[in-house]
Amino acid sequence: MNFDVVIIGGGLAGLTCGITLQAQGKSCVIINNGQAAIDFASGSMDLLSQLPNGRKISHFEQNYAALYQQLPQHPYCLIGKEKTIEKAQQFEDLAKSLNLGLLGSIAENHLRVTPLGGLRGSWLSPNSVPTVQGNDVFPYHSIAILGIEGYHDFQPQLLADNLKQNAQFAHCELSTAYLNIPELDQLRNNAREFRSVNIAQLLEHKLAFSDLVKEMKTASQGADAIFLPACFGLDDQSFFNALKEAVGLAIFELPTLPPSLLGIRQHKQLRHRFEQLGGLMLNGDKALKAEFVDGKVSKIYTQIHQENFITAEHFVLATGSFFSNGLVAEFERILEPVFHSDIIGCQKFEQSNRLSWTAERFSSPQPYQSAGVAINAHCQIQKNGQFINNLYAVGNVIGGFNSLELGCGSGVAVVTALTVADEILRQ
Ligand SMILES: Cc1cc2nc3c(=O)[nH]c(=O)nc-3n(C[C@H](O)[C@H](O)[C@H](O)COP(=O)(O)OP(=O)(O)OC[C@H]3O[C@@H](n4cnc5c(N)ncnc54)[C@H](O)[C@@H]3O)c2cc1C
Repeated sequence: MNFDVVIIGGGLAGLTCGITLQAQGKSCVIINNGQAAIDFASGSMDLLSQLPNGRKISHFEQNYAALYQQLPQHPYCLIGKEKTIEKAQQFEDLAKSLNLGLLGSIAENHLRVTPLGGLRGSWLSPNSVPTVQGNDVFPYHSIAILGIEGYHDFQPQLLADNLKQNAQFAHCELSTAYLNIPELDQLRNNAREFRSVNIAQLLEHKLAFSDLVKEMKTASQGADAIFLPACFGLDDQSFFNALKEAVGLAIFELPTLPPSLLGIRQHKQLRHRFEQLGGLMLNGDKALKAEFVDGKVSKIYTQIHQENFITAEHFVLATGSFFSNGLVAEFERILEPVFHSDIIGCQKFEQSNRLSWTAERFSSPQPYQSAGVAINAHCQIQKNGQFINNLYAVGNVIGGFNSLELGCGSGVAVVTALTVADEILRQ
């Protein structure tokens, strides 16, 4: 099999890169081995929420110089300010064209309501999620926070108590109640199955829609907005939107414990667009190893194609971090198992010193989380000290920064993906 581009990993980074290349006429295959981080994420995408010195930020452009000073090996710093901003804006446009329904802009982070009633800075959020801009007050006065009877991943009272502590919600009257949905009775026998994905599946197929609408109207007790756990609408937002229209109130949904419907919906839409453009997904297959000729990658072997290798002009590594097995931690080393790329981390992380991988306090940022492959400004991967011409890394497999600490996971995924697409299209 021969393609213009082989992409390894079908998460946010791999699909964003694949969609852009395929739309420009490059034939792409995505080899993908399993679920991606986006299936577990909140649905909100962060560009940069905090600097390495711990200061929370809301304006990316104004804080770029500080990021550069504190962490020059961050992918945004390698790529450069103008290009990073350009690529973030390009993703905003791409998300619109994909109907991802995301609100927000690189101009200023907004605050989204977390399932525990806190406020968290973010770049783009689904338009169904409650958000506020800075210190603006939330535009509704009475909010009914509705849980689902028997569903423990969403606690209305806890959310209400915490939400009230935020100045933006201090004026709100908050009430709480639980929806009684008899269609879910069959899930109640097994607490492990009473999860957002199972609830959404069951409701879409078996639902007495008008009964649910009636139950919501009764439980909301005259409030002008409703907050719900994101359990309504598996494939896209249409079920949620229909519910909103039928109830006739402003309804918002909040991410629940993973897996997350908000992320799963985005993943499905991205995958659908890639395939619609003619891209090939090899789902359930795993890239195992590569061959190099004259300092370039020439072919790749996968679990299913161990005999019939795959060749291409360009190879993109989009295998994610430890969570997705894009990086593997052995006792004495951290490795990237497909190409055996060079690994870097933040200043505190030293590959050869096992004790430097973790911080003493459990809740502190952990240095091993900054480990990943070393890249240059073109996102080309370094191996044995040399950058490989036709091998690029995108997304969370890249090292040198801690995406959990800085709140930049999705931003790095899409900015690097679009940068690499540009690099490949230029050649
Ligand atoms: C629980 C959770 C919550 C999060 N919340 C947020 C949030 O609120 N905001 C935010 O901005 N970010 C969040 N993130 C981070 C964000 O989701 C990720 O940074 C981003 O989605 C990473 O995308 P990726 O494509 O680089 O990697 P991944 O999504 O990890 O995708 C990598 C894919 O590659 C596949 N793969 C790995 N090895 C191979 C192989 N050898 N062959 C074939 N396929 C392979 C994996 O199976 C996986 O499907 C969260 C992440 C998690 C896990």
